[in-house]
Amino acid sequence: MIADYHIHTSMCRHAEGTARDYVERAVRLGMRAMGFADHLPFLGGWEPRYDLSDDWAMRPDELDDYVTLVQGLAREYAADVRIVLGIEADFIPETLEETAAVLDQYPFEYVIGSVHVVGDRFGFDHPEMEGRLADYGLDRIHLESLDLMRQAAETGLFHVAGHLDHAVKFGVPEDREAVAAAASTALRAVAAAGMTLEVNTGGLRKPFGRPFPAPALLREAHDLGIPLVLGSDAHRPDDVGHGFDAAAALARAAGYATVRSLASDEQEELP
Ligand SMILES: [Zn+2]
Ligand SMILES: [Zn+2]
Repeated sequence: MIADYHIHTSMCRHAEGTARDYVERAVRLGMRAMGFADHLPFLGGWEPRYDLSDDWAMRPDELDDYVTLVQGLAREYAADVRIVLGIEADFIPETLEETAAVLDQYPFEYVIGSVHVVGDRFGFDHPEMEGRLADYGLDRIHLESLDLMRQAAETGLFHVAGHLDHAVKFGVPEDREAVAAAASTALRAVAAAGMTLEVNTGGLRKPFGRPFPAPALLREAHDLGIPLVLGSDAHRPDDVGHGFDAAAALARAAGYATVRSLASDEQEELP
């Protein structure tokens, strides 16, 4: 099976299963490579509003343990699967310097840049925030999250654009044209930065029921020459590789024949 580069662990406090459980699952699925990309903690004392950070991510002083854990598993399972050490980092403009410094301190092999927090420190992706989405404004969440992804790409700090357009899981925007334009702008920035785009199958486990990003954006990404990786956004061991047949079919339909490997220079052929 195609490699899964978006795998969490229980260290982030909102996922089930040990890192080993996820590795065992990937081995059973016959993956040649897999990547852990647990959430980078919020840094520099910065927090989203409503005191959410404790159950959102690991603490900064736990990053050493995360790296040691993944490296240990990589050695232990080297004969079965190539385990790649990644991280999913929020793009938080206020703590960009701290983020760059911490990413520099650790031997991460790739960094997924993601947007879970918009404008006014609003952590729209957190389950407890559902009741506040309407007040904030759904279109505003779409537009701000896409513009933040554009800014994230322009920093050059991130290798993979995580779950572009995932705001759609909360609803389709009213002003579709404006949101489509913001997504195109973000994709052009991703291309200019030489980044890879993630097809995130986490969307298949939401009521909206499709991977992120939308097929039209995948076609645009293909035309811009942006390489792809697949990521399940696994928060349970059984999520590893979930929906990869559907994701591969969408990538094929968008014109892709291969996806990038983050474990080597080789491409993986799409089924
Ligand atoms: Zn998570
Ligand atoms: Zn994410």
